[in-house]
Amino acid sequence: MLISIVAPCYNEEEVIERFHEEVQKVAEELLPLGHDMEFVYVDDGSRDRTLTLLEHLADLDPRVRYVSFSRNFGKEAALLAGLRHAAGDCVVVMDADLQHPPELIRRMVDLRGQGYDQVIARRTRNGDRITRTLTARLYYRLINRLVDVELVDGGGDFRLLSRRAVDAVLALTEYNRFSKGLFAWVGFPGTTFEYENAVREHGRSSWSFRSLLNYGLDGLLSFNNRPLRAALYLGMGLLLCAGLYTAWIVGAALVNGVQTPGYVTIITAVTALAGVQMVMLGVIGEYTGRIYYEAKRRPHFLVKATNVERSEERAQRGTTKDLIP
Ligand code: UDP
Ligand code: MG
Repeated sequence: MLISIVAPCYNEEEVIERFHEEVQKVAEELLPLGHDMEFVYVDDGSRDRTLTLLEHLADLDPRVRYVSFSRNFGKEAALLAGLRHAAGDCVVVMDADLQHPPELIRRMVDLRGQGYDQVIARRTRNGDRITRTLTARLYYRLINRLVDVELVDGGGDFRLLSRRAVDAVLALTEYNRFSKGLFAWVGFPGTTFEYENAVREHGRSSWSFRSLLNYGLDGLLSFNNRPLRAALYLGMGLLLCAGLYTAWIVGAALVNGVQTPGYVTIITAVTALAGVQMVMLGVIGEYTGRIYYEAKRRPHFLVKATNVERSEERAQRGTTKDLIP
């Protein structure tokens, strides 16, 4: 079995060589069991020496394939590129910053041997800041109620995918990629195990509060149209309230005669309704924006340098095997 390791790298000059050493060790352990390994590193437009180091690694180790983007396209695009360029019978996607312990790959491969198409390593939140843990828990509880696929907290992008699962993910060509959801959407028999999260040793996480918030919204919006539904229901509810209130006022005026005061009511009604309308417009706008991006049909990424051919091109010529050492 050929196992592809896919790792997106963005400004990882401090760890990339160590990462490669670690996965090489795992590759050596797996070799006697009849498993070959290839490494697909995607340089996501790093501004440091990451690409130089990758080229160097590729010179030293023929199993290294690298793809380098013309600029930073984001981790989701990097993952996609990695999956497209991976030729393995199964693919392990993991971060290059050593937060995903490479020694777990063995366990994943074992579980793959038991027939699972997706083996998900789920990180525990030990050592995280309590606020982050709580918001994550709340978010996942909420989102799982809303979306149709099941999203697991901490069960993210450290996972093994079988070839058919990879092909299924690659067949989803949407522009706005929320891979956690895409993996879940694909389905197939899967299993999960837990591991202790390692603290980042070098560099820093590229996640800010704002990017997390946006990521959360993406998750919510990419997988269903329930926010649109909710907006519709909210509108209908408000309309009903307004109708009842009008009836009440008219009734009161008929009984007691007209009473002029009502400034507070009017201002409240006007501002509240304006707010609700803005929110609804925002929701519609989000979806329209997505349609806009899809309609442009731009590529997810542009490649600046690589030593791999795309697996599709290879498949077209029907020579998948000859590239594998
Ligand atoms: N990454 C990437 N492009 C980006 C940001 C991150 O390819 O724009 C890669 C990064 O090199 C790492 C992985 O994605 O291998 C996870 O990134 P990070 O460690 O910043 O995220 P966290 O571990 O905090 O989720
Ligand atoms: Mg990290």
